[in-house]
Amino acid sequence: MMQVEITNIIDESFRVKRFELSTLDGSVIEFVPGQFVQIIHPSLPEFNNTRSYSISSENTNSNKIELCIALNENGVFTPWLFKQDIGSKLEVSEPKGEFVLKEEYLDFPLIFICTGTGIAPFRSMIHKALSLGSKEVYLIFGNRKFNDVLYMHEWESLMLQNSKFHFIPVLSQESEFKNSGYVHEFYSNILREIGEARIFVCGWKEMCAETRNRLKEMGYNRKQYFFEQYD
Ligand SMILES: Cc1cc2nc3c(=O)[nH]c(=O)nc-3n(C[C@H](O)[C@H](O)[C@H](O)COP(=O)(O)OP(=O)(O)OC[C@H]3O[C@@H](n4cnc5c(N)ncnc54)[C@H](O)[C@@H]3O)c2cc1C
Repeated sequence: MMQVEITNIIDESFRVKRFELSTLDGSVIEFVPGQFVQIIHPSLPEFNNTRSYSISSENTNSNKIELCIALNENGVFTPWLFKQDIGSKLEVSEPKGEFVLKEEYLDFPLIFICTGTGIAPFRSMIHKALSLGSKEVYLIFGNRKFNDVLYMHEWESLMLQNSKFHFIPVLSQESEFKNSGYVHEFYSNILREIGEARIFVCGWKEMCAETRNRLKEMGYNRKQYFFEQYD
């Protein structure tokens, strides 16, 4: 377990905040891009007092990590978390999880498919992959509206800085937008063009289930695609 303090909070969208957590003793938080931590609620019963959050930090090897969290008004955990402020102390687990970017994947184009806060682990993974000289990196990011697209400016400027990075926002409730609809059509088209790839999928149950079916139908297998489901 680690004792951390909230050292910054950014309102990233109407329902999503970015929380910067710093270790109280200044120790470095070692993690592999893609991993998550569990936050402990101080007063909920033990069987229900933790929730998992992917590390969304741009950089590894620091005493700080960033989490990107959506408020669920009907939940028991996020309403409490969203009442915390800069200076609040939290108990969190060490980073964990196997949904990670491995160096051997860098021999292939990388496809990242997500909706909403499913972007969190991909922020760490994409920056790491590009810094290690990966092949082409595609981010297919589904949301309802323009204002829901988390880290929008970062993706736009990364695309200008690095010709290997391709940002494909897909919006289901902006009918005038060039990529309107759902993510499936967009990654399917890219995969048809490039063939062999390593594919990461992150987000809520329905999107993950549909994507898994489509990837299987297209002939991809579990050595080529990896899932992190949020519920
Ligand atoms: C590996 C992993 C990584 C994750 N990373 C992220 C991330 O980066 N960002 C992010 O935002 N989320 C992430 N999640 C999801 C996160 O862990 C929580 O599930 C989410 O924040 C909702 O928590 P909550 O306590 O607010 O809702 P919960 O209390 O868990 O409630 C979830 C739903 O259950 C229902 N419910 C709750 N209590 C009751 C009750 N007593 N009776 C009936 N129904 C009830 C509510 O309707 C609610 O909609 C991740 C999940 C996993 C597994």
